[in-house]
Amino acid sequence: VGCGICVKKCPFEALDIVTLPEELDNPTHRYGTNGFALYGLPIPVEGKVTGILGANGIGKSTAVKILCGQLVPNVGNPSGESDWDEILKQYTGTELYDYLQQVSKSSVKPALKPQYIDYIPKVFKGTVSELLTSTDERGMLDHYIRELRLESILDRPIGNLSGGELQRIAIAACLSREADFYFLDEITPFLDIYQRMTAAKLIRELAETHPVVIVEHDLAILDMLADTVHVAYGKPSVFGIITRPKGVRIGINQYLEGFLPEENVRFRDYAVTFETRAHMRDVVRQTLIAFPEMEKKYGDIFSLTIAAGEIRAGEVLGLVGANGIGKSTFAKLLAGVEKPDHGEMDKEVKIAYKPQYVKGDSSMSVEFLLRQACRTFDSSYYQHEIIEPLSLNPILQSSVDQLSGGELQRVAIALCLSQDADLYILDEPSAHLDVEQRVKLARVLRRHAEGKEAGIIVIDHDIYLIDMISERMLVFDGTPGVTGSAYGPYDMKDGMNHFLKELEITFRRDKSGRPRINKPESYLDREQRAKGEYYYAD
Ligand code: ADP
Ligand code: ADP
Ligand code: MG
Repeated sequence: VGCGICVKKCPFEALDIVTLPEELDNPTHRYGTNGFALYGLPIPVEGKVTGILGANGIGKSTAVKILCGQLVPNVGNPSGESDWDEILKQYTGTELYDYLQQVSKSSVKPALKPQYIDYIPKVFKGTVSELLTSTDERGMLDHYIRELRLESILDRPIGNLSGGELQRIAIAACLSREADFYFLDEITPFLDIYQRMTAAKLIRELAETHPVVIVEHDLAILDMLADTVHVAYGKPSVFGIITRPKGVRIGINQYLEGFLPEENVRFRDYAVTFETRAHMRDVVRQTLIAFPEMEKKYGDIFSLTIAAGEIRAGEVLGLVGANGIGKSTFAKLLAGVEKPDHGEMDKEVKIAYKPQYVKGDSSMSVEFLLRQACRTFDSSYYQHEIIEPLSLNPILQSSVDQLSGGELQRVAIALCLSQDADLYILDEPSAHLDVEQRVKLARVLRRHAEGKEAGIIVIDHDIYLIDMISERMLVFDGTPGVTGSAYGPYDMKDGMNHFLKELEITFRRDKSGRPRINKPESYLDREQRAKGEYYYAD
């Protein structure tokens, strides 16, 4: 079954088509004798946001540790003493020379927002306010607290927060420090699109006076946030090569294309494309589940209204809206976990659910868990449609509590899809996945829906993923924590336009068809609003 995501050939494996160029004989750093080797380094630039775009395990964090002075690069000689004179000689005449000279004198002070934030409650026991106050070195904390809407949780203990709250606190803590260089390793997991835009705005403000380096897999956000990107490619866990900086539009387009013209390297043999027509294929779908108009109140605090609609067999339905607007509550109503105050589902629907926050507290192996979840583990269908595209083979014997965030996410997705259900609901499956894995995820889910004649609902805040993955959309709006209403299901054009109108942002499409966020109040922004073309134009 074609999925409409990729043009040309669309293989599952991120092909091993990259070999190490022969002229690259001197890595910047190598872990152990036959360990991972990193070539090149990103360059922090005064007054700019520099992005690093690349797969997990390709050396991004390693590069950053070097820039921070936490790791002295061994220039590929893991046994020898690291010698800064030798390293600096390698970088003579390059833009990095001055920067590395500072690092070698231990005079660079970095501020870091680490990728995984769930460790914060383990190392810090106080309240939100106590944590943040200890980072207030630039006198900007109040501004960040206001903009990131942290006022109402300041007195809460750090151990008692949602992932989205922790993420915003971690961003505020990093930006509040006085540092020579700021590094943020993924800002978007668990944030809704409003919060993503706010975080991006605050980082841009900071970058006017300080160099900032970010890693980000939400490409719409990376695009508006970064000035330049370094593409990182290679073979994850084997070697990674960091390119010279590219303009952000060009860098992202080359990445999606899978081809780097300046380096003359094809690192993926298919291109990721955005095509409005991909959603309008002539498929006839039966109704799988009809749901009536429903209402649900939680005390006097939150109320949710759902318009009647239906979910079709074989479709992926994208579900978008702010945090706290009732998306999970809707899922619970469909599953019969919560009963609506008005309206009633007329039949029981069997639902498989992947929650937003995935727990990795089991010491069982991945394979054991998956075998428990489904009897067809050994079938070629399961291997080919689930295990391979989710790259689970290398971690089948790992115990679940040892997995990285991205690995755990992929296991949770597999566990959900392993169940026998009418409807699969995945809450933020993109969290901690890199771009390559998001593209494969889109394909896995679309094939699963079609192959099983099931319905799949994907709740996510990555607009590109929603665009790639969905056939139709359900849009939630209202006031988070107070009221929520669900509209739709819409076709993609009406759904995206409704959603973005609510957000008050417009996208244009560049020559390759890729959507890009317009600058607010720019000519295009105003023109598109007037026409009601927030994202899709025919
Ligand atoms: P990324 O940030 O792009 O996900 P990393 O820089 O964290 O990648 O890791 C790149 C590779 O280096 C991975 O294969 C990882 O296992 C390996 N690696 C990272 N740190 C160490 C270390 N201290 N010792 C040995 N190998 C390491
Ligand atoms: P979303 O999934 O869109 O982030 P939720 O459906 O989880 O939103 O929550 C919507 C609102 O309802 C939030 O303000 C949340 O605090 C509240 N809420 C969710 N579950 C309950 C519950 N069991 N009791 C009281 N309030 C709840
Ligand atoms: Mg990393």
